[in-house]
Amino acid sequence: MEKIRIAIQKSGRLSEKSLSLLKEAGISLDNGSRKLRSEARFFPLEVIFLRDDDIPQYVEDGVAHIGIVGENEYAEKACEVDLIERLGYSRCKLSIAIPKSESYRGVEDLEGKRIATSYPVILKNFLAEHGVSADIHFLSGSVEIAPSIGVADAIFDIVSSGSTLISNGLKEVEVAMKSEAVVIANRDLDDDIQAILAKLLFRIRSVMAASSNKYILLNAPNDKLQEIISLLPGMKSPTVMPLAEEGWSSVHSVLRESTFWEVIDRLKELGAQGILVIPIEKMIV
Ligand code: ATP
Ligand code: MG
Repeated sequence: MEKIRIAIQKSGRLSEKSLSLLKEAGISLDNGSRKLRSEARFFPLEVIFLRDDDIPQYVEDGVAHIGIVGENEYAEKACEVDLIERLGYSRCKLSIAIPKSESYRGVEDLEGKRIATSYPVILKNFLAEHGVSADIHFLSGSVEIAPSIGVADAIFDIVSSGSTLISNGLKEVEVAMKSEAVVIANRDLDDDIQAILAKLLFRIRSVMAASSNKYILLNAPNDKLQEIISLLPGMKSPTVMPLAEEGWSSVHSVLRESTFWEVIDRLKELGAQGILVIPIEKMIV
């Protein structure tokens, strides 16, 4: 039987979360000591572990059918692959930063500057969009020290918390793109592989939906029931059952993590009691 081959970063900021996503999707790997490839038990899938830089090309060539990479790497390599799912982790930005002491009015200030980066393609597109011409200086790592050692006037690099910039005396002046982990796929998958991919994506989406939702149970006074229900749309609609105590109902529903605290505050104001919030392991969407 055919197996889908997925490329995952061997070690780095994407590895752990990508492997735990597979695990939560019920795909356990028998890789005792981190081999370069590993087969799943009970699912037709094989993982190959690569440097993230190599993943887009391997997927384009069909060596791997699909891969998990940062969107930044997908954009930089500009390979002939499709972005088929956003995964929501390893979020970061790609930004231009300059020495803290320098003034900055807008992109036009970058005209004629030397900008050091590991992402020349994304930077080139960004500058072209803004009609700025600058000198792109490629560095494969340690980009943030380029201004202090005099090899560049500015940098274009990954920023997450910004602490690396601060400790190198830099400040962010432009955000060119936002990035998160994504699934990319070869454009030419045969029907068997497509069918396995559909199953895999279904599982991944169920895991992601579960982690962004919570199960909520509460007791509601009947005179406020309609208002409470309107705050809790649930998957179809909330379950409402009468409590043994006259005038009260038990309400069960699903709540989005992103609106969680707002909704809880409103529920309390409406007199809801005994609110329980429970994590959901899988949510079949
Ligand atoms: P490799 O050895 O595989 O080439 P790498 O050093 O190029 O690894 P990592 O630093 O492990 O890459 O980052 C992998 C991806 O994680 C990046 O392409 C980016 O999408 C994302 N990423 C990088 N830095 C951060 C960060 N500080 N916070 C969140 N996500 C990040
Ligand atoms: Mg890399």
